[in-house]
Amino acid sequence: MSTRTLPLRGAANPSTLRDGTNPGSFANAPNLGGALTFSSPDTPGMPAPSDKTAWDFLPPGWRREGDRAIAPAGFVPVTQLEHARLGNITPEMKRVAEREPHLTAEQVRSEVAAGRMIIPANTQHLLHALEPMCIGRASKTKINANMGASPVSSSTDEEVEKLKWAERWGADTVMDLSTGGNLDECRKAIIQNSRVPIGTVPIYSMIIGRKIDDLSIEVILESLRQQAQQGVDYFTIHAGVLREHLPFVQRRLIGIVSRGGSLLAKWMLVHGKQNPMYTHFDQICDIMREYDVSFSLGDGLRPGGLADASDEAQLNELGTLGELTEKAWRKGVQVMIEGPGHVPFDQIEYNMKLERQLCHGAPFYVLGPLVTDVFPGYDHITSCIGATAAAYHGASMLCYVTPKEHVGLPKKDDVKQGCIAYKIAAHAADVALGIPGSRDWDDSLTKARAALNWEKHFELAFDGDTARAFHDEDLDVDTDFCAMCGHDWCSVRISKEIVEFASGKADGFTRDKVAQSAALTPEQREILEKRGVLSPEEIHRLASKTRKAVGAEGSKGSCHSDYAEPEAAQQIQEQRLVQLRTKPEVSAAE
Ligand code: SF4
Repeated sequence: MSTRTLPLRGAANPSTLRDGTNPGSFANAPNLGGALTFSSPDTPGMPAPSDKTAWDFLPPGWRREGDRAIAPAGFVPVTQLEHARLGNITPEMKRVAEREPHLTAEQVRSEVAAGRMIIPANTQHLLHALEPMCIGRASKTKINANMGASPVSSSTDEEVEKLKWAERWGADTVMDLSTGGNLDECRKAIIQNSRVPIGTVPIYSMIIGRKIDDLSIEVILESLRQQAQQGVDYFTIHAGVLREHLPFVQRRLIGIVSRGGSLLAKWMLVHGKQNPMYTHFDQICDIMREYDVSFSLGDGLRPGGLADASDEAQLNELGTLGELTEKAWRKGVQVMIEGPGHVPFDQIEYNMKLERQLCHGAPFYVLGPLVTDVFPGYDHITSCIGATAAAYHGASMLCYVTPKEHVGLPKKDDVKQGCIAYKIAAHAADVALGIPGSRDWDDSLTKARAALNWEKHFELAFDGDTARAFHDEDLDVDTDFCAMCGHDWCSVRISKEIVEFASGKADGFTRDKVAQSAALTPEQREILEKRGVLSPEEIHRLASKTRKAVGAEGSKGSCHSDYAEPEAAQQIQEQRLVQLRTKPEVSAAE
């Protein structure tokens, strides 16, 4: 027998209770207050972190004294960044610290001041139901869900319903990307109904009723002001697409795939001028500062296929986004950076670490990335593989991709599938990064699973309805095995019965007796109906306990409890406990 020393680096263990045999994280030790806050070890050749932060880009007339800044006399702070720089802990920072138990409010303030964290919270949206949250590599990884009416599909009511649906399935922010219907009304309804920050791509509403060629700076600024007043929490602004970058696009297989990027490229070519979002960036900053709208600096030249990834167009634009980050910080505006797209798995770490260098650690918000192009209809899966790697290597927020990506407008179930895929990616990365407490949920579910405590298992499951429905599809009784292996082959049952094993015996997780499984709820029945595997009669049988509960006729599940009542089955199992002795017996005399 050999003992191996694991190459652990992280001082933090993602499990609060240090349960089990897994001792910690292979990621770097967390460095709160530094550029390496929750980070992966660098593969050789990766770009080093920037030695600058938002502290190096204070507004004119400001000066730094230790971990605080002094503003010119009479200055009134508005944005979370300005408050953080001045040493003010805002109510929003306190709320963020409550939601991120491994962080103190002072650490939140310090990260916001350094520009490595943002709290997207428009002062107008805070007047409604907004629950402040943060995006940054010192905090847990966040996910964004996109929605929005298109010219051919959906309505305001449907979009509000999708918003609620996305919140239910764990979206930390929602982007309203409507390009059809009544955009203003839809946006207003979404802001008034949302607990999560709302992002938009304002150029979409700027070209409703006009050709892109007719877009003027007056229209741009007026539209931004109107959306800021409405309460939008972050704007995607494609200010980094420059005329100089366009020749790099010519050799691409799929050109420009960002709507905003392609519209602005066309505008520049028609007018023979530089991107107006770039030339008027300071005025845009002034409007956004007034309401504390955060920048999501758009990646208008993101790759649309693996062959175009990490090319000169994409990386030169990223360099420009770094330059714009510095400008926005000088204006007191919070910034995150948008990233690709479609990236081969091996290039993801490089992309994340280059952003950390060029944009001085501003939070990276990435779309996927998809790690292969050949599975349309399954791009929530191709992209959540890339998203997991992206979060592990430095992304702070993951923009979901649904199964409808590239082929149509997502419907409710697509929103759910996208959210779940991305919750998996974000959580997997948080555990790998060693964020304190992030594995507690996994450990609890493992204990319930080991104890064959099905009720607790499904209560802890992210989507307990689906897990319960799948279980009951085959076996509508909660007992010491499931239909996957059956009674005699259930390794979890056998492990639980081995006296020396801790398995299945954790306090509060063992269940008292074999129990009839709970009745299927209408939601769970619907899940089975949609699967189309069971006949209506079989689903009806599984739902029989519901009828029983309301006094109608019931029926019994087909397992060994058909032949023994629950108490008797429990007794039989206890009599058959496996007494595996791996240690010599210790006599009383010793
Ligand atoms: S029967 Fe198989 S899948 Fe089901 S609980 Fe036992 S070991 Fe797990």
